[in-house]
Amino acid sequence: MSASLETTPPPPARRRVTRPALDAEGVRVVLRTLLFRGASVPAWHDDAACASRPRALFFPDTDGARPRAATVRAAKDVCRRCPVRAVCLEDVMTYESPAHRHGVVGGLSAAERHHRHGLHAAPLGASS
Ligand code: SF4
Repeated sequence: MSASLETTPPPPARRRVTRPALDAEGVRVVLRTLLFRGASVPAWHDDAACASRPRALFFPDTDGARPRAATVRAAKDVCRRCPVRAVCLEDVMTYESPAHRHGVVGGLSAAERHHRHGLHAAPLGASS
């Protein structure tokens, strides 16, 4: 009788998924879905500095973890030079669901938009 040499098979190799950069229409679809709840994307987006940038720069796939500070800074650098930043921020603060904040939009991180939303939503006379 011989001892079994069977071992547990190694896990399947994980394939790295690469995502292609989005073209302008792809960015519109993402924005429409994430920010505007299916409504059409406003015309100002034609001048958005992020339109030619990879989606992952603004919406990194972090599996729920905080995005890397360097990634957030790089996205904010694009927003800082964007000619439509003010209207972008105004729209995201109007349309974005507080339960689904993600990524850098309008020059602010999700946490910064959350904080800003809280300031505007605080009842009059409330103090901390
Ligand atoms: S402010 Fe940032 S997120 Fe908004 S349109 Fe400009 S580059 Fe895009």
